[in-house]
Amino acid sequence: MKQISPSKIVCVGRNYAKHAAELGGEVPDEPLIFFKPPSSLIGEGEPIVMPPISKRVDFEGEIGVLIGKRARKVSASEGWSYVEALVPVNDVTARDLQNIDDQWARAKGFDTFCAVGVPVPLKQVDRSSLAVVTRVNGIIKQEGDAADMVFDIPTIIEYISSIMTLEPGDLVATGTPDGVAPLKDGDVVEIEVAGVGSVRNPVIQG
Ligand code: MG
Repeated sequence: MKQISPSKIVCVGRNYAKHAAELGGEVPDEPLIFFKPPSSLIGEGEPIVMPPISKRVDFEGEIGVLIGKRARKVSASEGWSYVEALVPVNDVTARDLQNIDDQWARAKGFDTFCAVGVPVPLKQVDRSSLAVVTRVNGIIKQEGDAADMVFDIPTIIEYISSIMTLEPGDLVATGTPDGVAPLKDGDVVEIEVAGVGSVRNPVIQG
């Protein structure tokens, strides 16, 4: 696979109303952003390792955006022009730790907690009909459509770039739809972005 090497991974939380509701949260007034460390990245076929300290590790299927050129204070109307490629992302989350920590560096940051597929250039993608599907052991668990995002991709790029410079190669994970659930040892989880591709990973207990 083509390796990605972002200087940072910026994620959006609660960006689908039904997912915010299933976690007992409100849809935020502004995008809610957090980081995952680049050290959490894995690719196709590499195992997601569940750390012993967590009793609930969830999948989160997401549409990932790879930045193509330096973005600083970009307007939403220009947002897409800063996108190089799209990629399926699994924002793996230690849900129990997320629920007890005020910041999510631990819950979101374990090694192997960011599975990504092969990036597909934006110009090869029909961005008017972006959808993400998560399967565990072949059974559909999540089905989301970018049209249901609270903040769309150009708005997310405007918001993040108003705060921090997005560098070429940076990865933005745009939030997960409803249906998140725990993984268990021996599962195989697959995130597919329609028209882009998928990333499939076995899950093992660490
Ligand atoms: Mg997420």
